[in-house]
Amino acid sequence: MTPSSRPAQPENGQARRLAVVGGGWSGLAAAVRATELGWQVELYEAARQWGGRARALTGQTVQTRQVPAGMPELDNGQHILIGGYRATLGLMQQLGVNLESALLQLPLDLRYADGSGLAVPGWAARWPPPLDLLAAILGARGWGWRDRFALLQASLRWRAAGFSCPADLSVAGLCAGLPPRVIDELIEPLCLSALNTPLSQASAAVLLRVLQDALFGAGHGRWRGADLLLPRVDLGELLPGPALRWLADRGARLHAGRRVVALQRRPAGWRIENQDYDAVLLACPPREAARLVRSAGLDKMDDPDGLSGGLTESGSGRWIAQAEALAHEAIATCYAQARNADGSPGGLPDGAAMVALRSAPEAPAQFAFDRGQLGGPAGLLAFVVSASQGERAEIERQVLAQAREQLGLASLQPLRTVVEKRATFACTPGLQRPDAAIASRLWAAGDYVAGPYPATLEGAVRSGQQAAEGLQASYGLNQAARHR
Ligand SMILES: Cc1cc2nc3c(=O)[nH]c(=O)nc-3n(C[C@H](O)[C@H](O)[C@H](O)COP(=O)(O)OP(=O)(O)OC[C@H]3O[C@@H](n4cnc5c(N)ncnc54)[C@H](O)[C@@H]3O)c2cc1C
Repeated sequence: MTPSSRPAQPENGQARRLAVVGGGWSGLAAAVRATELGWQVELYEAARQWGGRARALTGQTVQTRQVPAGMPELDNGQHILIGGYRATLGLMQQLGVNLESALLQLPLDLRYADGSGLAVPGWAARWPPPLDLLAAILGARGWGWRDRFALLQASLRWRAAGFSCPADLSVAGLCAGLPPRVIDELIEPLCLSALNTPLSQASAAVLLRVLQDALFGAGHGRWRGADLLLPRVDLGELLPGPALRWLADRGARLHAGRRVVALQRRPAGWRIENQDYDAVLLACPPREAARLVRSAGLDKMDDPDGLSGGLTESGSGRWIAQAEALAHEAIATCYAQARNADGSPGGLPDGAAMVALRSAPEAPAQFAFDRGQLGGPAGLLAFVVSASQGERAEIERQVLAQAREQLGLASLQPLRTVVEKRATFACTPGLQRPDAAIASRLWAAGDYVAGPYPATLEGAVRSGQQAAEGLQASYGLNQAARHR
């Protein structure tokens, strides 16, 4: 039996106790994986709502101005998944989510309201990658042959180099020489939606990895990596709700509205409030995780049982420094109610569920979504501003003007604009991200933890699952050390 599959059972036959701090997608994924591995899990979430940055906004938190009667939950931010999110989709399926009804699948489509831009044509949607992408490039409306040829050449170059490049290269550096149309209509929207970081500051190595997995990699089940998957249920029902039900059925203890204030070192584990645990997994944002590691005095303390497996107090100090050094980017989501001139609910051109917008500093949204096509009430639109700057009221004003102009909507009433100031870490070249292992029996999970992906749902879920498996494996090694 490998260490990672050994059940977490001590000699007295009772399951070992694990506290997971943070009920976002990484914490939920970690809790599920640890439960499968035999741990008795206790999950703490500071907010009353589960799901972290990918959560539904419920009840009193939805203080919208003119909420249409019967409006379903708004989300903290409009999210897109892709077919290449294999860990996330696999977990959702394991939890009993019906993927076909919960997600609307669309072939890659980055077209604007006037139909120009790049999209995999319907007739090539079942072609194997990268032939579907080739069809999209050759058929891109509004593109000249120079644009198409330059992108094909660059794609072949990146593929020949194994989709790798120097760690210190920016996306702007990687794409220098590509025609402006290719940058404006493909690279920039992809970079902003995947890395949420402006081109000049974004890591080319991470973008190439995303492109490799999304455009050329396999997808989950019958989906291909590049397929866009748009939620047709609110984010709470996409993963948090099913995960909580699965955990409760297996005896996990779930505490919403309980912020963990401090960690205390115990001879053989950790104490939170007055509860003792064999191990703790921090799945809260990096600064909060660093604060908790500090609260344990770990940066000053020797490993008391000598079972750190090479994780030293100076290592914990480095972990804290890396976690605290991460910079962040914002994302704004503007919800609005669209109406046609006759008062009927409006929508996106041709009944599309999603359309790209031409963005500029004074017209900051990159994408619009029609939630009416996604299980919501007719006419409810969501506009996404990645790497957003400035204040909420100004962003909302600019986005509404942009939408009226580019989508030709007669009437657009703002409902609510959510600005997440710390939506993602800034995914910059050569960034040193903290590891999952912090100290003996103390692990971290989250989209910011070292890994190949930018801050995404898939990065969070993978990190949660890997942290639970890493903890299990290290625990096995530690047990061996204790009995030597
Ligand atoms: C507006 C927006 C749009 C996005 N769009 C996309 C997208 O389209 N596609 C995509 O893949 N990703 C997207 N993302 C990124 C994605 O949402 C995140 O990568 C993911 O949700 C991160 O999950 P996490 O578990 O790592 O962290 P979090 O979701 O931040 O979870 C951490 C949790 O810890 C809790 N916590 C904090 N301190 C404590 C404490 N002391 N005690 C107990 N609990 C605590 C917090 O309340 C929180 O619930 C978007 C993010 C935002 C904000």
